[in-house]
Amino acid sequence: MPGTVVMKFGGTSVADAERIKRAAQRIVAKREQGMRVVVVLSARGKTTDELIAWAQEISSSPDPREMDMLLSTGERQSCALAAMAINDLGHRAISLTGSQAGIVTDTSHTKARILEVRADRIRQGLDEGAIVLVAGFQGVSTSHDVTTLGRGGSDTTAVALAAAIDADECEIYTDVAGVFSADPRIVSDARKLPVVSFEEMLEMSASGAGVLQLRSVEYARNHGVRIHCRSSFDDATGTVVVGEEVTVENPLITAVTHSTGEARVTLTGVPDTPGVAGRVTTALADANVNVDMIVQNEPVSEGSRADLSFTVPRDDLLTARAALAAIAEELGMTVRANESMGKVSVVGAGMKTHPGVAAKVFTVLGEAGINIEMISTSPIRISCVVPGEQVPTAVRALHAAFELSGPDTIRPEQPFGEFAS
Ligand code: ADP
Ligand code: ASP
Ligand code: MG
Repeated sequence: MPGTVVMKFGGTSVADAERIKRAAQRIVAKREQGMRVVVVLSARGKTTDELIAWAQEISSSPDPREMDMLLSTGERQSCALAAMAINDLGHRAISLTGSQAGIVTDTSHTKARILEVRADRIRQGLDEGAIVLVAGFQGVSTSHDVTTLGRGGSDTTAVALAAAIDADECEIYTDVAGVFSADPRIVSDARKLPVVSFEEMLEMSASGAGVLQLRSVEYARNHGVRIHCRSSFDDATGTVVVGEEVTVENPLITAVTHSTGEARVTLTGVPDTPGVAGRVTTALADANVNVDMIVQNEPVSEGSRADLSFTVPRDDLLTARAALAAIAEELGMTVRANESMGKVSVVGAGMKTHPGVAAKVFTVLGEAGINIEMISTSPIRISCVVPGEQVPTAVRALHAAFELSGPDTIRPEQPFGEFAS
């Protein structure tokens, strides 16, 4: 039985006709090695952002179902165009929408979860010798509507297909050479990590390393999919995400991650009675808003009221406010928000056995003049919410303090150089 591979190309890698043709050559080369090839494509360049902007020109609160109908078109364009390019190279390619590819999701429009993959049509295409191209980031819900999987969702499409067809590897081709010790757009001497454990990659993706969507990493771990994240501009080996038992070195800190898309919501005048925090968070969960850090300040005196602060993705702020409006009024709480927060995190499995990491993080940020507004930790991560504009300074300071740069540092001649800030 020949090997099977899923190759996923991100937006930058298919941004224009030249790049689509280049990706087509790479796909065909794989097929010519005798592999069965399934390809997942993202929308070209900034297409998804443009489609979102179009919707916002029309409506301040676009219907999520219609949003999905709109956003799903971006990846379909890429697939059809890539199929044409592959056909021109003398190979047969068929393009499929997420729905045609059998990706069944729940009904949470704009951030649907994959429930099942019915890959018969893909298998049939492969059996007929075709290269099968699947539009990333989308599926069809159990109510037969088009859904999308959240920003960066094509990674999850790729991993889910790899699991469904039992592929040997899921290759994620992107605009950087792999997973780095920090976003190479911010830290120019970040180190490419040859391997990273699922445990660490989950924490990295969850804390902002958008190079792999969080759900794709979760899915890969749950289904035993091997992810190889690599550059679409050269042939070099990238980063392989592996089980914990495979990682040899266990450095104290593996990476510094960040996010600039955070909003902090503060509820003041929160009644100091049992059950209030539960009601607030249930209202947010029912609206499908992910709450990240939560801090409650105890009332200053008995009988007075408390403050409750938490962070949510900035994109969810309007939804969060709407979800809180009714209980805020009922309980006499005031809702305030700061939209320009950021978060910086250090991630490393070695932290489990080494005390003092938190002290170092806080000291480094303090010395850089950065005020820490909220803190949260896991056994292998320390995250600090900081003012959004100070995120790059914070990331560079922590990356330097933990001495994370190294020999695999990005080279200026790499194509990525054109994006570096
Ligand atoms: P694609 O369109 O290929 O899916 P993304 O923009 O989603 O690409 O992800 C790649 C980007 O992720 C890189 O350009 C880089 O700026 C960013 N990134 C953030 N953190 C990291 C990290 N630790 N390692 C590599 N890239 C990172
Ligand atoms: N095109 C979608 C986005 O920009 C999905 C993806 O690229 O993975 O988020
Ligand atoms: Mg992506």
